[in-house]
Amino acid sequence: MTGVPEAEPVTLDLLKKKMAEFAKERDWDQFHSPRNLLLALVGEVGELSEIFQWKGEVPKGLPDWKDEEKVHLGEELSDVLLYLVRLSDICGIDLGKAALRKVELNAIKYPLTLCNGTANQQNHTTTSPTTTTNNGSESG
Ligand SMILES: [Mg+2]
Repeated sequence: MTGVPEAEPVTLDLLKKKMAEFAKERDWDQFHSPRNLLLALVGEVGELSEIFQWKGEVPKGLPDWKDEEKVHLGEELSDVLLYLVRLSDICGIDLGKAALRKVELNAIKYPLTLCNGTANQQNHTTTSPTTTTNNGSESG
């Protein structure tokens, strides 16, 4: 159903190729400018946000959610990922390498000795080419 053999690992490169094929087959490359893809990505983040809107905090694993809610969540998460992968490709960014580099930068900016178990980013400011909040979340 996915067109991907079960044994084949899903990689960012595979998703990039699938998205490029999908766009080419439909002659949509003409619409996939960085700006258009960014706006589409933001729209999908909005759709993802709607799923959680008004639910309050939900426990990890979403134990009380119906199967169809989880399927819908998977679809919107995928929309976000696919537009992010496509945007990165169109911009000539190797997303996997960029993400690994960012993890390394975050580890330098937030060393275990200062950040372990704390959520206050004010205690961990250092100079860095990027701005990052703690807990693995990114702000720039
Ligand atoms: Mg969507």
